Amino acid sequence: MAEKKKSALAYESKSVWQSVNETEKNLIFDFAEDYKKFMNTCKTERESVCCTEEQAKKLGFKDINLAQYQPGEKIYIKNNHKNIIFAILGKKDIKEGINLIAAHLDAPRLDLKPMPLLEEGNMALLKTHYYGGIKKYQWVNIPLAIHGRIVKADGSTVDISIGEDENDPVFTINDILPHLSSKVQGEKKLLEGIEGENLKMLVGNIPVNDKEIEEKVKEMTLRKLSEQYGMTEEDFISSELEVVPAYKARDVGFDRSMVGSYGQDDRVCSYAAFRATLDFEGIPERTILVFLVEKEEIGSYGVSGIRSKFLYNSIGRILGLKFPDYRESDLRNLLENSFAISGDVGAVINPMFKEVFDSVNSPKMGYGILLEKYTGSRGKSGASDASAELMGKVRKIFNDNKIVWQPSILGKVDEGGGGTVALYLADLGIQVVDSGTGVDGMHSPFEVSSKADIYETYRGYKAFLRDA
Ligand code: MN
Ligand code: MN
Repeated sequence: MAEKKKSALAYESKSVWQSVNETEKNLIFDFAEDYKKFMNTCKTERESVCCTEEQAKKLGFKDINLAQYQPGEKIYIKNNHKNIIFAILGKKDIKEGINLIAAHLDAPRLDLKPMPLLEEGNMALLKTHYYGGIKKYQWVNIPLAIHGRIVKADGSTVDISIGEDENDPVFTINDILPHLSSKVQGEKKLLEGIEGENLKMLVGNIPVNDKEIEEKVKEMTLRKLSEQYGMTEEDFISSELEVVPAYKARDVGFDRSMVGSYGQDDRVCSYAAFRATLDFEGIPERTILVFLVEKEEIGSYGVSGIRSKFLYNSIGRILGLKFPDYRESDLRNLLENSFAISGDVGAVINPMFKEVFDSVNSPKMGYGILLEKYTGSRGKSGASDASAELMGKVRKIFNDNKIVWQPSILGKVDEGGGGTVALYLADLGIQVVDSGTGVDGMHSPFEVSSKADIYETYRGYKAFLRDA
């Protein structure tokens, strides 16, 4: 059969795998190994901040309090153990603007309620409250781990991570067996089959041998918690304990072309942006900055969400290193001269649900970093909607650096929608566009992405930080 002729004028996205040579393929696979390690050690925002800070310090990044204003100076600024900024000062005056990428470290999960422990049917259970947009039925009958920090009565803290080591116990939420589910679930809509209030996690079954105590299994759990973590029930109230899948990131496919992992939205873009800064060669022309933030999945509110003044204040602190008496208008001008990528994941076409995607505009797995003009829902509601000029600028940077990229939107018109942090960067006057990695099974306990797309995201971010 004769090969079809391609128009020289038509646009066609291309597979990364068909665009790279053997050496580049090896780089893609090597990068994925580092990425999986990151995903296995950083399952929460606290762990991610802690581990990126540690790695950056080794490569010469300094706390801003110890930093000086000189080109090439590497700086980090932390916010409440939950956000972190990495910056490298450029050769040009910072007032001319900076190039920045913001990505989020939080991912959908189950948080423990303030008073989580109860005994029901001779089982000790922990009540949870889901965080972010989850499909509740996906979180039952899988091994779960608990990560987080407990602040005790005397103010001391204990950090815990239970369920990650293969010798650790894990926890789970039990669904009802099919034999008995025809009425309680069979007559319901799929998304209502497991209700939020029923996401109670099994944590114990042995009762104490004490006739005086009414809830004997709960008591045994409290004793174990006291023995192992020195905690009391009241300590739960001043804790942040996050329940996440207990399994590790794995290769997916006979060809090992993909990564399956919890929390790729948005730790994939966070990691790519972090590594783009860490591996930056030489001194950048313009100051570059990467902001890893949290609370994106619940609306970006709070002192560690991107709506807080932390980013604004931090850029002010960097400006203040050179101009201690800078005026508010200097900072505002700096922001208006800045370019940003809102680094977040997009949804690639899922072949089982093709009907919700626009086959021409929706991104494909393995076809490179996504460049997304707008997000939002209905009539682009809630979208930051990047300008043609900015799209042109980033497109040119990607093409000049031979980054494999593809345009992206979230599904068909009126099918649903979603947002990113782009609009909050735009609020500061920064020119911003969305660009990140495509993911399938987004917000599930096991999201899938392409190793090629992860690597192109990293390369794309590096090129943007250097050339924007
Ligand atoms: Mn996201
Ligand atoms: Mn999300």
